Amino acid sequence: MSKFFSPKFSRLIPYVPGEQPKDKSRFIKLNTNESPFPPSPKAQKFAAEAIEKTMLYSDPECFKLRAALADIYGVGAENVICGNGSDDILNFAFSAFCDDKTPAVFADITYGFYKVFAEYNRVPYKIIPLKDDFTIEPTEYYNAEGTVFIANPNAPTGIALSVGDIEGIIQNNPDNIVVVDEAYVDFGAQSCVPLTKKYDNLIVTQTFSKSRSLAGARLGFATADKELITDLNTIRNSTNPYNVNSVTQAAGIGSLEDQEYTIKNCKKIIETREKTVEELKKLGFVLTNSSANFIFASHPEKSGEKIYKELKERGVLIRHFDAPRITNYNRITVGTDEEMKALIDNLECIL
Ligand code: PMP
Repeated sequence: MSKFFSPKFSRLIPYVPGEQPKDKSRFIKLNTNESPFPPSPKAQKFAAEAIEKTMLYSDPECFKLRAALADIYGVGAENVICGNGSDDILNFAFSAFCDDKTPAVFADITYGFYKVFAEYNRVPYKIIPLKDDFTIEPTEYYNAEGTVFIANPNAPTGIALSVGDIEGIIQNNPDNIVVVDEAYVDFGAQSCVPLTKKYDNLIVTQTFSKSRSLAGARLGFATADKELITDLNTIRNSTNPYNVNSVTQAAGIGSLEDQEYTIKNCKKIIETREKTVEELKKLGFVLTNSSANFIFASHPEKSGEKIYKELKERGVLIRHFDAPRITNYNRITVGTDEEMKALIDNLECIL
């Protein structure tokens, strides 16, 4: 830290993204929940065409992209905002809807960035512990007296809440905003996007990073009541109006025009996940019921850290969180069938 760094950030502990090894070819990379498949050919083509026009600024309103999103998700274009990844929009939500009197409210085991966004925005936060089986008790979020953030499916557990349970939380927070982070929703959970037409206190965020294979392009979006979108845009336009570059906007439109490609890939990932779950159970692993593109697993005979380290030595990278309650678990991204076979073969040797 330099002597010039503002004391207001002196206690800020930044988010630590999953390892991105320099020599990727040495590893089977199952640690950051990326898609094992390339982006849709249409996304690639549109992006290649867009790069030729990058002497011009990108459209700050993401007009065409929002129209395409509105079309697919059955909402109005005025109900959509786009971001540089969904992290961008989540950060806007912490800025726009939390303050000294309105804490952020989220689970003890959930996406690690929520705590960092709260600290960066210098707003208080209230933690609600998950139950022993890592599920959420919806009633604990009723009348939350703050802005609620729920990842659905949750990360790193992969466990999903039903839309009915989330609707209960929304209805029982008429004076609070509920943000549902649906980064992994395409892998088997129900989406709350339709509820954004019914409730003016709901924001749903999604990303192109997982099911749409565009993690490196950085594209996310949110749907909500028009007035909430206006508030989020006030923050966006006060920080970085060109937050989504033109190549990414084009790739996003290409992906949306090729829905079948995304649906096919999600189906494949779900199939591979279920097959891998069965194999892991045979090896004695204890697993949560994942509706995401990752598996959350612990083994009664070997610590999570040991499994992580020994797999890494063998060239298989998974994610270990050195955090209370989950230190014995690892999060394993669902890759291709071949990658998961290599994972299982290596685990058989280790165990
Ligand atoms: N929410 C959750 C639960 C995540 O795991 C991630 C990915 N790290 C994000 C949001 C953000 O993803 P992105 O910024 O790539 O859209």
